[in-house]
Amino acid sequence: MKDIILEENNLNKLKKLVRKYKYNSDIYIKFKYNNKLYSKPSKKLDKYKNYLEVIETFNIKDRRKRISHIYDYLCNYFDEDMRKNNYCEFENGTCIANRLGYSVHDNNGCCYQYKKGLCKYLTKNGCSNPNPSCKIFMCEYLNKVKKVPNYSTRKVYLTNCFFSFREHLVFRRNYFITKKEFLDKYFKKIKM
Ligand code: SF4
Ligand code: SF4
Repeated sequence: MKDIILEENNLNKLKKLVRKYKYNSDIYIKFKYNNKLYSKPSKKLDKYKNYLEVIETFNIKDRRKRISHIYDYLCNYFDEDMRKNNYCEFENGTCIANRLGYSVHDNNGCCYQYKKGLCKYLTKNGCSNPNPSCKIFMCEYLNKVKKVPNYSTRKVYLTNCFFSFREHLVFRRNYFITKKEFLDKYFKKIKM
């Protein structure tokens, strides 16, 4: 087992290291700051949060656990952004595109599956099945009228460090399914 120690002045090497060693289970990364070693985000080091998230993920060597961690991370990341910016402007079960007639349906946002109808995971309290593809999706109203920049796993530092082209696609295109189904699909499509 080998630890690679990064410091403030060489944190910019992190992405390269992840790309090179992400499947090496003998190499761990740590961040040294004020003579202390860190391997996950810490409130004290908020300005290095993005880097520490990558380091934490890199040090998860079991592939399913790592992808599961990334899955949860992305769901929280986009939830937080949506909460902050309120792009969809939900009110009483309708989003802004429903209310203005820009969507096919009059309510429940875009939680509808082609030819199957309302998604079975939608409850009166909202979505009961966090799914990153659903969270990344933005409709034409948001893109073209409201001019909201598209969500993308490419814009997230963590996934930008870890993902290949195919992994970005898998995370973008698997709506309506559970986490277990999603991870099963991921491991069928992505070989090491
Ligand atoms: S993405 Fe568009 S259609 Fe979907 S909930 Fe948001 S505003 Fe509504
Ligand atoms: S899984 Fe997707 S489509 Fe279904 S309720 Fe949740 S966000 Fe909506």
